[in-house]
Amino acid sequence: MKKLWLYAVFAALFIGLGFPTSQTSANTLFSDVGSSHRAQEEIYYLVEGGIANGISSTSFSPNQQVTRGQAAAMLGRALGLNGEKKATSFSDVSSNYFASGYIQQMVNKGIISGYPNGQFKPNQTLTRGEMAILISRSFGYGANTVSIASSRLMEKGIAQGYVDGSFGATDTIIRADFSVFLARGIHAQFRTSDEQTFNRLMYVNVDSLNVRTGPNTQYPSLVKVNTGQVIEYGYTVGDWSFIRVNGKEGFVHSAYIQIDVPDPNNPTPPPPVVTPPPTNTLSDIVVIIDPGHGAHDPGAQGYGYQEKNVVLNISKSIKTYFDKTPIQAKLTRTTDVFLELGARTKFASQNNGDIFISMHANALNGSANGTETFYYQTAATNPHVNESKALAKYIQNRMLEAWDLTDRRAKAGNYYVLRENTMPAALAEIGFIDNKTDNAYIASSTRRDQMAKAIFMATLDYYYHYEGRKDVLPLYNTVNGKPSPKLH
Ligand SMILES: [Zn+2]
Repeated sequence: MKKLWLYAVFAALFIGLGFPTSQTSANTLFSDVGSSHRAQEEIYYLVEGGIANGISSTSFSPNQQVTRGQAAAMLGRALGLNGEKKATSFSDVSSNYFASGYIQQMVNKGIISGYPNGQFKPNQTLTRGEMAILISRSFGYGANTVSIASSRLMEKGIAQGYVDGSFGATDTIIRADFSVFLARGIHAQFRTSDEQTFNRLMYVNVDSLNVRTGPNTQYPSLVKVNTGQVIEYGYTVGDWSFIRVNGKEGFVHSAYIQIDVPDPNNPTPPPPVVTPPPTNTLSDIVVIIDPGHGAHDPGAQGYGYQEKNVVLNISKSIKTYFDKTPIQAKLTRTTDVFLELGARTKFASQNNGDIFISMHANALNGSANGTETFYYQTAATNPHVNESKALAKYIQNRMLEAWDLTDRRAKAGNYYVLRENTMPAALAEIGFIDNKTDNAYIASSTRRDQMAKAIFMATLDYYYHYEGRKDVLPLYNTVNGKPSPKLH
């Protein structure tokens, strides 16, 4: 029954009722997806919105198996994620891989994950079970196991089980079938069940709002709606909402609908009410690295070395470690320039820093040696006392692990960049530049790189243990490392 009804709908579309098919509007036509292909509607629908692409301009290869990388890219595009290629937390997904940006963003959103060995296996074929989980998480069905996810997909008419009642979770899936499931996840009219889709009334808060056939602006507009118009809300796909208005079903951007009647005296569109608040992802984290001193202020000196140059060199290396991850690292200075202390903390707050690490080396007439880390312990100016203390402990631990110099401990210190700061802050003294033993470490480029890696790992340790972020765990793989013991 349902299937026949669907065909009737599609037949109607062909004659121009504007339903989501690209048959009439897109230029792409694949020789291997003709008008009789069972997944024709769904494939061209996804292609029209740029969600799926052919293998070439004339071929879609519908029978080819879907890889995990391809699935991530298609889902990422469906959700409107930024697909710009970038470094990922997986050892086998380089920043050059076509889906690297989608993979990392979906990891950050908790939609996809890799393997315990730190790999993503982007070229491995996707199974039906993985597909069920991915679609469930992408569209918010709240299912984290294959059995629940496959039940949800079957309830919603997105996927069917086999004749024998099983779901075939370990079977691989071909591009045609994945396209069908994805199109059904996006647009309810492709689904095979009549589950109630619209269950909330909402109001449009802007004039001339396009109701589109799909969840991005590549899809054509079906109809326009205006401020105050009542719509029936169904569900969310990325930043878009699937709605029904005047008998037509389609997508509007979620920023332009709201639960309350819009106030005609307040023309400013309110923030989105449908899209869940964005969670703080790894790529939102900004680590401020502050190489001490600069220009006419050389800092400590010894054996021909100047602190300002040594700590700048190490700070730049720290950034290269972060650059292999989604976490952002920003340096208060990248050249030999002089910065007032106030300019350093101001830089940190203006760049939305989350933590601040100041890099220094010591000197005391050659009479002292070792490594120490400072934090500020009075909440009056910088309220982040506990965080700062924990950060300092993790830094001190990794510095000792790297260089094994004398342990001068993590301790309280009244330094401007710690005190007059607005975020967890620590000041690392890597060693005594005028001490013969310590200077040999400082003078070695291999040792300096080791120190940079130590600061990188200490940051991960802080986020892992103190902030309780399990999503930093894969980032240790970029340096073949693992979390430190819990120290705070
Ligand atoms: Zn210094």
